[in-house]
Amino acid sequence: MDIEKLRKETKGVGNVVHFNNAGASLMPVPVFNAIASYHQDEVEWGGYEVAGKMRSELEAAYDSVAKLINAQREEIALLENATAAWAAIFHAIPLKAGDEILTCEAEYASNYISYLQAQKKLGLEIRVIPNDHRGALSIEAAQQMISNRTKLISVTHMPTNGGLVNPAEELGVIAREHGILYLLDACQSVGHYPVDVEKIGCDFLSATGRKYLRGPRGTGFLYIKRTQIENFEPIVLDLHSAEWITKTTYKVKNDARRFENWEANMALRMGIKAAADYANDLGINSIWERTSLLAQKMRESFATVRGLKIRDLGAVMGGIVTFTLEGYSPEEIKEYLSRQGINVTVTFKGSTLLDMENRNLESMVRASVHYYNTEEEIDFCRQQLETMVMRDNSNDRGSKGV
Ligand SMILES: *Cc1c(COP(=O)(O)O)cnc(C)c1O
Repeated sequence: MDIEKLRKETKGVGNVVHFNNAGASLMPVPVFNAIASYHQDEVEWGGYEVAGKMRSELEAAYDSVAKLINAQREEIALLENATAAWAAIFHAIPLKAGDEILTCEAEYASNYISYLQAQKKLGLEIRVIPNDHRGALSIEAAQQMISNRTKLISVTHMPTNGGLVNPAEELGVIAREHGILYLLDACQSVGHYPVDVEKIGCDFLSATGRKYLRGPRGTGFLYIKRTQIENFEPIVLDLHSAEWITKTTYKVKNDARRFENWEANMALRMGIKAAADYANDLGINSIWERTSLLAQKMRESFATVRGLKIRDLGAVMGGIVTFTLEGYSPEEIKEYLSRQGINVTVTFKGSTLLDMENRNLESMVRASVHYYNTEEEIDFCRQQLETMVMRDNSNDRGSKGV
């Protein structure tokens, strides 16, 4: 990878050390240009007219996104975020009292809240696959938990609160073996890790644009396996997702776009297309290799700061690094680093409640790297943490804590 070139195309690196790629990555220049020029055209020619003129480019967005995850264009719905994508399919699955959903310890809050809502409304059962000794969901346990009441396996691939990569492919084998629907939240893994829907064997997958994919905010997508599309009718239909045939009949689209609405931000679609092209051109294997290596270096480097504890779980780890530092609250560390020009964030218990309660954690600092970050930036951040601890030790703060 030509890191110098990639950094030139990432304007933000001149302003900040950006370790918040799991929150919203810095958009590269081609992504911004694609959005800006489309908006410019809309200003000058009119929204519908530009959409007409740009029809084939807008259509190509489906190919670019599909390619990212080794899917087909008709299996992709472009939506406004991952939550909308996830919820669109989840609520379209006909679950009933007594049915069981299998999920994982690292499950994302919004998904789990939906399980609780479905449980309240329908009386279904939520079962959580325990972790193995490394902290990833246990395939052995999952295998044993399957029963004829299990109707859906729905898990998070890489959580918002750490480097963990759950064994999505192995879980897919179990799902297929038993013919159980499999929904994967790949929000943190698309654009980061080699996500291949054929290898994973999932029926549905949701992802967002702004995180590791480096697309704009307000974008996301849903993948539905070709053979499943016509089995699931969305809760919400309109004149784009369905066609009004006669006074008494309508027909739902036969591709994944049955989950879209007519109105959408077309400029942002050009943005997610450009982001997908950018990632496809770089190659997801190279992206993964560099990002996971940088994160590993960060873990090793930060672990040498006195009182700092790396908190990431799992045998395979990606670009998200989480830690706590004795005597300091994560918010305090975030504020301190922000004054030094470093963006990190804080991950709170409420985002991944099961996992955080298991580990007795209220919050952690989250420093998420991407391929365009450098070892120099990691060193700089480590130095700032070191300086903070040393300074406070010399005026006796370290021992007192906060
Ligand atoms: C960010 C995130 C989501 C939600 O994505 P949005 O685009 O904000 O809707 C879902 N799952 C995980 C694991 C996430 O990290």
